[in-house]
Amino acid sequence: MNKYLIRGVLICLLLLTVLCKSYAFEIFYPHEKKSTTDYSYGLFIGKARNSESITINNTKIFTASNGAFAHSVNLNDGENRIIIRSGYSTKVYTIYKKKKLPKAQSQIEEFDKKTVLVKNDNSPLRNAPEDIGFNIISYLFKDTRIIINGSKDAYYRVFLGKDKIAWILKSDINLTSEPDELPASFINTESKKYKNAAIQTISFTKNLPYTIEDGEKEILFKVYNPELSDSSIYTLNIQKPKKYYYNVSLQDGLYTFKVSEVPKTFEDTTIVIDAGHGGEQRGAVGCLGDEEKNINLKIALELQKILKQKGANIVMTRECDGTITLKERIKVAKENNADIYLSIHMNSIGNVPFKSLKHKGTGIYYFNRNSKELSEILEKTITKVAGTKKNGVKTASFAVIRPASYVGVLIETAYMINPADTLIYRQADFARNAAEGIAAGLEEFICK
Ligand SMILES: [Zn+2]
Repeated sequence: MNKYLIRGVLICLLLLTVLCKSYAFEIFYPHEKKSTTDYSYGLFIGKARNSESITINNTKIFTASNGAFAHSVNLNDGENRIIIRSGYSTKVYTIYKKKKLPKAQSQIEEFDKKTVLVKNDNSPLRNAPEDIGFNIISYLFKDTRIIINGSKDAYYRVFLGKDKIAWILKSDINLTSEPDELPASFINTESKKYKNAAIQTISFTKNLPYTIEDGEKEILFKVYNPELSDSSIYTLNIQKPKKYYYNVSLQDGLYTFKVSEVPKTFEDTTIVIDAGHGGEQRGAVGCLGDEEKNINLKIALELQKILKQKGANIVMTRECDGTITLKERIKVAKENNADIYLSIHMNSIGNVPFKSLKHKGTGIYYFNRNSKELSEILEKTITKVAGTKKNGVKTASFAVIRPASYVGVLIETAYMINPADTLIYRQADFARNAAEGIAAGLEEFICK
């Protein structure tokens, strides 16, 4: 009998130890115990048992009252072992950091001027031979005639005129069809004014390249005809309203450039609400294991309700947990002639060390200057209603906010990975509050 009792007690003790070990803490990121990265920092987020302190490589980590924690470790080249301890429980992670190879310096290759055709619609023309979003100066249309006279890496150098060059991806150029030798000639230009829009057209016998400069008070639309002469530039100049967006279209050499004013009532306004990620794209993961895509959708659905009540025309990019590409999201906006595009997200960090005071609260991102004002208003109204800290209004080159054919803003409502923010976004009324804050900002932007 005694023998069985001792065995029983031993089994109980063993079970208790196993339970302690499995419930002491959870790590939600990294997902794998062994991983490889180019990053210089490894982020660890998770949930500790409230009463237990937690250490990562012997550094004691702050945990919020709900157990949420986040910590970055510096990674050295090669293998890094990260040991996480809490109570009687230990987990070991191995992150292999790839060595950065020095980038080979390539030279510009010069060649004689050659007229070629653009292969695809929406081909970015850039002011440098690299893809950093902000160097886009226009999006060329299919079959635009351009002159190239040099190349570097994946780009051709485009000759637009005296002292004016640009760059375009080689893959956006059609080298198989030879354009005829006759340069384009100017036909005419016209301008029309409507209640909420100004339209200017300029017509040539062939498709020519253009650029847009969105200035202080006016927008300059320039068309270049360098085959005619190196100073052959045609400039359309449109005074812009305070709240505006613009569109360019091209058909058989005829450019139509339209500058529209954002409507002044909800009833006249079409708003696209874009719940970020979805389906297979989970977005960021939170300290407590939440998935960004679900929180984005909750906020988006609350916002849809509020804005519909206000009479706005609402278009959703998704209303359920489905996968949708960035291209499809932009297409939804263009097909519905969106005035405003709101992309709703929750924030995380890239290759930087996590700082609890810096990576916290609501951040608003825009690409074109027509979206700056709404961004500033939204930062104010969302933080006020949702109770988050201001994380700043910044420019960023995210695909969904790059088009200038609407006012486009990307909202990072709070940080998934900030323990203090988890206390806010885990509250039952967070989605509703965030939506109320966004709606209040839209009201101020549209109606005032
Ligand atoms: Zn996101």
